[in-house]
Amino acid sequence: MSLGNQPLSEIFGSNVFNDAIMRRRLPKDTYKALQKTIEEGLELDSAVAEVVANAMKDWAIEKGATHFTHWFQPMTGTTAEKHDSFISPTADGKVIMEFSGKELIKGEPDASSFPSGGIRETFEARGYTAWDCTSPAFVKEGTLCIPTAFCSYTGEALDKKTPLLRSMEALSKQALRMIRLFGNETSKRVITTVGAEQEYFLIDKELYKKRRDLVYTGRTLFGAMAPKGQELDDHYFGSLREKVSAFMQELDQELWKLGVSAKTKHNEVAPSQHELAPIFNTTNIATDHNQLTMETMKKVANRHGLVCLLHEKPFDGVNGSGKHNNWSIGTDDGFNLLDPGNTPHENAQFLVFLAAIIKAVDVHADLLRLSAANTGNDHRLGANEAPPAIISIFLGEQLTDILEQIEKGPATSSKQGGMMKIGVSTLPALPKDATDRNRTSPFAFTGNKFEFRMVPSSASISGPNVVLNTIVADILSEFADQLEGATDFNTAVQELLEDTVKKHGRVIFNGNGYSEEWVEEAAKRGLPNISSTVEAIPSLITKKSVSLFSKHCVLSEVELHSRYEILLEEYSKQINIEAKTMIEIAKRQIMPAAIKFATELANSINTVKSACDSADVTVQADLLTELSSSLASFKEKLVALEEATKEAAEMEGDSFDQGKFYRESVFAAMGELRAIGDYIETLVDEELWPMPTYGELLFQV
Ligand code: ADP
Ligand code: MG
Repeated sequence: MSLGNQPLSEIFGSNVFNDAIMRRRLPKDTYKALQKTIEEGLELDSAVAEVVANAMKDWAIEKGATHFTHWFQPMTGTTAEKHDSFISPTADGKVIMEFSGKELIKGEPDASSFPSGGIRETFEARGYTAWDCTSPAFVKEGTLCIPTAFCSYTGEALDKKTPLLRSMEALSKQALRMIRLFGNETSKRVITTVGAEQEYFLIDKELYKKRRDLVYTGRTLFGAMAPKGQELDDHYFGSLREKVSAFMQELDQELWKLGVSAKTKHNEVAPSQHELAPIFNTTNIATDHNQLTMETMKKVANRHGLVCLLHEKPFDGVNGSGKHNNWSIGTDDGFNLLDPGNTPHENAQFLVFLAAIIKAVDVHADLLRLSAANTGNDHRLGANEAPPAIISIFLGEQLTDILEQIEKGPATSSKQGGMMKIGVSTLPALPKDATDRNRTSPFAFTGNKFEFRMVPSSASISGPNVVLNTIVADILSEFADQLEGATDFNTAVQELLEDTVKKHGRVIFNGNGYSEEWVEEAAKRGLPNISSTVEAIPSLITKKSVSLFSKHCVLSEVELHSRYEILLEEYSKQINIEAKTMIEIAKRQIMPAAIKFATELANSINTVKSACDSADVTVQADLLTELSSSLASFKEKLVALEEATKEAAEMEGDSFDQGKFYRESVFAAMGELRAIGDYIETLVDEELWPMPTYGELLFQV
């Protein structure tokens, strides 16, 4: 590892204004006051902010920073920053470096161009950013970045961070009630933790530039499959190619400097696909870090002559990318509430949390489904490479058995994993986990956490975690109400568990989630199967959703409606861009290439015939016939797509109807055009083909 002479322990977090730095650089009182604010969620004193700002500035300048920015996460799903320099003019015509407490706490970007879903008309452009002191500031490329929340003049959330922080508070509040009932008097807060495994593709930059579809949309809109795909599974965990390895090394270093604990890296299933997993952190920081990870991946790839594709489905015919959101709940003093221990049947507190999660996932399956929906993921969920669009929970043998016991009365035993013999006398016997893994479940229990496996690779993980935290908080509050009022606690717990398993056990499924039988079985169980983003979006504004999110002060009705509009608008815009890109490629690249080849064939027929009248030109003639008729139907499908796109763009009024039209007409027309386009690719001389092929894109890094 080329870390120079600096040990990794010194590099890690070197660009972060973290706890250790604050402890060293802040006066004791200030440090304590800030710590209290962070830990107890109190309001920050302006005098404290003044001192912190000054220390932060001095530290940042030592790290080479000249600017600062409020780093925030608008509804676009990426991050935004507006840089201001530290300079402040003095009377003698020089400058000094200044950064005030006020500038640290509050920013005021002109917010008119960020999506607000109608909350903020452009004439009320004011937006505010507010320092989130629970996520540390950092220096990135000469700028001090201050993580902030972003809201409107009237206080509505316009970003992905605000509801996340609110949902963490909601969960903490309700989970605390629950653990108090079980006798915990010491923990001050309950925290949700997340480890987000990030999948991505790396392709050659020069090839990328020649693909308009990748440049404009992040995915290939045309492209015939190469003779080889992922069928040999030879890429999964395969040794890293040099170029990729160099990229990953630099990526690790850049992330470590930013305090992102990049831990695991490996090749994924599809050719050119890879994964990075960090060590888990509190949900808020994990979300910030995932944004930084995605951003850094793109930048570092660029330096290595590569392009990092984060799209959920860049290539048809091979696996797409997802993000596995590993999620757990723990106390501030380090106790994982989802750790079942060795004998889970005796661990009533664990079982109550488990029951709350089971019920939450069953009752709010529609919201979880929505939280994983985006245009890219529509290509994956329900296709046999990613979890189905049906939400279910994998618990494994041990826990399922305990719940089955509970249904009939108190559980009395826990199945154990035992030892596993490998069958070679020199190899040690290994202790077996109580349960095997299940890769086909959207929401799988994995030992002491749940892995939400539907999350889209390109999106912020805020949405899924807002939903998870809030729905679980909601059921915990319901359970706490019940148990707090109980005369006999133990009986009440048993009743609650029994009742929950009976009513919501239907959401547990340990079998193959990719199978056709599951789709049928799930329908029998009454589980929703929501097939697309457009259909998932309305779950945000149902009565159930409005009452859930407002009860726990996570999102108000106005905020929910604004998000509903933003999501629909984003969907329609993205499909519109894809359709227009396809039309351009079809008209200006594919048709001209096919016509050129047709002309070559015709010329060949004429030339050969005039040279030798009896020569056989059936090969050229057959090919020409085939090509011409394909070209004719290609043109027909192109016209259909153009018409659908025009009609969609001109639609006025309801954004849901428009989204639905994009899905049902435009998106469908795109599929038909592509099918013929890809066939034409297999007919035309490769010398004439106007863009890099799948073979080149996938196998040439
Ligand atoms: P796999 O790919 O086998 O599921 P990985 O090791 O790639 O496993 O990823 C597991 C992820 O789960 C890591 O990011 C890890 O830090 C995270 N994780 C482990 N414990 C917890 C926890 N208590 N809360 C949240 N995430 C966790
Ligand atoms: Mg993994």
